[in-house]
Amino acid sequence: MKNKYILVVVLALVVIGTVIGAVVMHKRSPAQSLTSAQQTKFLMDTAVEIRAFGPDAEAAVEAAFAEMARVEQLFSRHLEDSAVSQINAHAGEWVTVAPEVVALLEKALYYSEISSGAFDITVGGLIDLWNFGGSPQRVPADEEIARVLAAVDYTAVELDADAGRVRIPVGTIIDLGGIAKGYAVDRACQVLKQHGITSGMIYAGGDITTIGSKPDGSSWRVGVQHPRQSNSLIAVLEMTDSSIVTSGDYERYFFQDNIRYHHILDPQTGYPAQGLISVTVYGGDAADADALSTALFVLGWDKGKELIESLAGYEAILMDTSSNVWVSSGLRDLAQIL
Ligand code: ADP
Ligand code: MG
Repeated sequence: MKNKYILVVVLALVVIGTVIGAVVMHKRSPAQSLTSAQQTKFLMDTAVEIRAFGPDAEAAVEAAFAEMARVEQLFSRHLEDSAVSQINAHAGEWVTVAPEVVALLEKALYYSEISSGAFDITVGGLIDLWNFGGSPQRVPADEEIARVLAAVDYTAVELDADAGRVRIPVGTIIDLGGIAKGYAVDRACQVLKQHGITSGMIYAGGDITTIGSKPDGSSWRVGVQHPRQSNSLIAVLEMTDSSIVTSGDYERYFFQDNIRYHHILDPQTGYPAQGLISVTVYGGDAADADALSTALFVLGWDKGKELIESLAGYEAILMDTSSNVWVSSGLRDLAQIL
């Protein structure tokens, strides 16, 4: 029903006593012109681009950006008033949070469970210690890592969904950086749809979601960047109404003694996860794909394959340190490996 809106007006006239009449009118709106809009803003620590086609694309894109800013305001660890900052600032106490925050925490804990703790939002202290992107950047001492690692344990996060509250142990710091951007993209996508957008794309760093197909009816074609050659791709995917998220060791990292240290940490060791250099997850929701891309990255080649093949609706492309590429069974027809 692309670009066409059928307005169904049902009028029921009831005459009490003898006559009950109902009139049903189908009315087709006059052909609406398709507008397009494209805008880039810096949000959630990354450049976010939104493209949309629909009746009032400009307003839709504005509203989608506003929604992403709202989500960032809830989940950013760098904004003092965010729900996440409140939970961290009041470690040891119950903190009342919005249902939306409870829901994303539940999702994060679900991905911790199914990944045996490879995905773990309590890595906040470790992230601070490693200080990726800050200065100085250096490999922390083993004792420092051991000390902070003691506070990394997703099973210690208490979530009281009915009462809408959460409590983390004193010393623990939560960080939703592995899932919040995907969630923000999902929310922005919903807002675009609510504004009547029938074709669109949201690109936020490694997280992409698409609405419908392109205005000419063809699928969106999305490339997966090569983790070592910034101008080449490892795969191209045809996408309609789906999301794709990539986690790599090439986004935030530093070198020390010729060793690359990057921002996806193994909650078991406290060090950057080893083995894979790029993980792309494809599926319906960007939040789920986001958590999964981080989880698979930590799980590595064998366990990563096992987890993604066990899940319905989500697929993956893995690349290891020797540039071996693996594509999950459900993606082999959709992805073109280069
Ligand atoms: P990006 O944010 O660059 O797209 P990811 O989705 O893989 O990449 O998320 C990496 C971020 O997730 C880190 O910056 C950190 O905030 C957080 N993080 C790092 N390691 C883990 C982990 N093992 N589990 C959950 N979150 C993590
Ligand atoms: Mg992620």
